Formats: sequence, C-alpha cells, structure tokens
Amino acid sequence: LEQQIIVSEKLSAIGKLAAGLAHEIRNPLTTIMGFVQITHSRLLDPVTKRYMGYVQEELERVKNLVSDFVTMSKPSVPIVKPIAINAFLDSVLSFMEGQAALHDIRFVRDYHTAEEEILFADAAQIKQVLFNILQNAVEASEPHQIVTLRTQKLGDNLLITISDQGSGICPENLTKVQNPFFTTKENGTGLGLSVSYRIINNHNGEITIDSRWGEGTDFNIQLPLTSNYKECSM
Ligand code: ADP
Ligand code: MG
Repeated sequence: LEQQIIVSEKLSAIGKLAAGLAHEIRNPLTTIMGFVQITHSRLLDPVTKRYMGYVQEELERVKNLVSDFVTMSKPSVPIVKPIAINAFLDSVLSFMEGQAALHDIRFVRDYHTAEEEILFADAAQIKQVLFNILQNAVEASEPHQIVTLRTQKLGDNLLITISDQGSGICPENLTKVQNPFFTTKENGTGLGLSVSYRIINNHNGEITIDSRWGEGTDFNIQLPLTSNYKECSM
C-alpha cells in the first residue's frame, strides 16, 4: 500500500509537470519536425539525406516520449475507428525500420490475418503501444538478431505477438516491468510498458509476457476485434 501511495504521489506530481511541459515542448517540436521534413525532402546528397532521416526518427522518439508522459498524466478515452490491420502494422514497422537498421536489427512480418481484416480501436493509442514494445525489443536485441511481429485471429480476438531474441527479462523482474518508473536502463523512463498496459486494458484487451532469461521475449497483445471497449475506466 505504501508503495502504491508513493507511485500515485509521483504520478500526480508528474502529471502536473507533464501537462504544462508537454504543451511547451510540443509546439516547438512540431515546428522543428516540419522544417526537418522539408529539409529532408530537398536534400540531394544521399549521405546528408540519410543523416537527416535519422534526425527525423530521433525527433519521433522525443515526440513519443512526450506522448507517454501525457498519457500517463491525463489518460484519454480511446477514439475507436476501423483499422485495416496488416496495412496499419506495415506502416508502424516501416516507420521504425530505419532506427532498427541502425542497430543492425531486422523486422520480420509474420501475418496470419487476412488483408481485409479490420480491428476497431484507437489507432494513435495502439501505435503508441506497438512503438513502445518494438522499441524495447530493439533495445534488448544484439546486432544481427530479428524482431518478429506475428498476427493471428483467435475467435473474436486479434493476437499480436512481438518476439525478440534478446536479453530476456529475469524472472524476478517479470511482475515489475509494468509498474510506472520501473526501468533497468540507464536512461529509461520506465513509462513505456505501464502506458501500454493501460491503453490495452482500456481497449478490453490483455498483454502477457513469455520471457526466457538470456534467450528472448514474446509480448502477446490480445485485443477484441470489435469496439466494446471500456469507457471512462481510467
Ligand atoms: P524503459 O524502456 O524506459 O526502461 P519500459 O516500461 O518500456 O521502460 O520497460 C520497462 C523495463 O522492462 C525495461 O527497462 C526492461 O528491463 C524490461 N523490458 C521491456 N521489454 C523488454 C524486452 N523486450 N526484453 C528485455 N527486457 C525488457
Ligand atoms: Mg521502453
């Protein structure tokens, strides 16, 4: 209980800060990203263009970090719309592929969902979840390893599994990784998974982890395909 109180105190303090700070960061960030985008499109020298691409990807990371803080402080009700699953996952993966390539890590698509399969969910929030889990997978991996994204239909549910061949999660940390601020990284925030659990929970879904210490980790995201999400549950 004591720990819960400390966490909720931290959250409300963070919440107040984040609301103000995120606003102040977002506006200049949007401007910077806009001009970087234009600059990128005008560059002719392929090497400089590639570097500017990295700048764009890193800026996306900052934007995502700010989003995690905002979601943590002021969780929002999902805005549910139809999403064409495979195309949506492709767009998330291709968006992160450059950054993974920097670490010499490759994404493998293993879709067992039909091209026309639809998920009713909040696309921005689900993208945030996939981004966080893929980011962790890349960070846990060694060069030359692969990260697999597998989809499967299980009755009325969609199962997305993100597997890596990286460090694994040691058994005593397995129950802690979803706690806000839990991190084993030097410059981690420990917010990515707690935000992701919250978002999936709000969609009436579930995240489970299979991890083999030293061998890799599977994150299983199960989501109802239709829109019977919980309203105002946060
Ligand atoms: P952060 O990435 O900022 O540390 P997260 O909430 O995203 O915060 O993750 C919390 C912790 O869970 C990580 O610090 C790491 O110890 C562990 N973790 C998450 N995903 C993986 C993974 N794929 N492989 C190994 N450890 C992981
Ligand atoms: Mg993370």
